Amino acid sequence: MGKNRGKVPGFRILILLFVFATAAIFTFLKTNRPLPVFWFLAPLSGKTVVIDPGHGGIDGGAYHSDGTLEKHINLSVAFRLKAVLEKNGAKVVLTRTKDESLDYKNNKSKSRHKRDLIARADIINEVNPDIYLSLHVNAEKNSPAARGPMVFYYRSSPESRRLAELIQARLEEAYKSAGQSVRQRSPYPNSTLFLLCNTTPPGVVIELGFMTNAEDRRLLRNADFQNKLASAIAHALREYF
Ligand SMILES: [Zn+2]
Repeated sequence: MGKNRGKVPGFRILILLFVFATAAIFTFLKTNRPLPVFWFLAPLSGKTVVIDPGHGGIDGGAYHSDGTLEKHINLSVAFRLKAVLEKNGAKVVLTRTKDESLDYKNNKSKSRHKRDLIARADIINEVNPDIYLSLHVNAEKNSPAARGPMVFYYRSSPESRRLAELIQARLEEAYKSAGQSVRQRSPYPNSTLFLLCNTTPPGVVIELGFMTNAEDRRLLRNADFQNKLASAIAHALREYF
């Protein structure tokens, strides 16, 4: 009896651990997320990211006569990116979650376009995330052969530059893994983009591809490829943090 009494509590603890581990593994396999108690183990846990899907509402951004609008691609990739970053444990804030222009949020300029950009910068500065990502699609009407991702950062932010380099490399990989040959690029220091000049946290403007290139346009409209781009950016963020 004496011996048994000593063994029972240890055995119970083992059973409890077994149940707990099974639940943890099951939850992870089922949802691809750790149990809340293991949340601190998620790679982007404790990080806040603002995703800014460019344009919206009256402002369609780059477009093509086949009906493709940049604003829709930006928002669709933003939702996919939000999902994958949250699975990695990050807290994600979107500057817009529907098809709208953000100019109504302030009265700081006479220009509707400027008010929209100010609203986005205001959100980024108020949330004060670890990083922000502004999603766009490029256009180059005079050179339809131009294609692939381009990432812009603020010249005097070394952190933004490092982030831009990692994202540029992973996005190029995403294109390659989709069987595409894109020209290798370095990210661009750009001091004229309003968002980059008017925000405090490190961040980048990501041109996901070219609206004016037929193959890019086909890929950018494709749900699987949008997921691929989102995963590539998430991969770069895990490397960054
Ligand atoms: Zn744009």
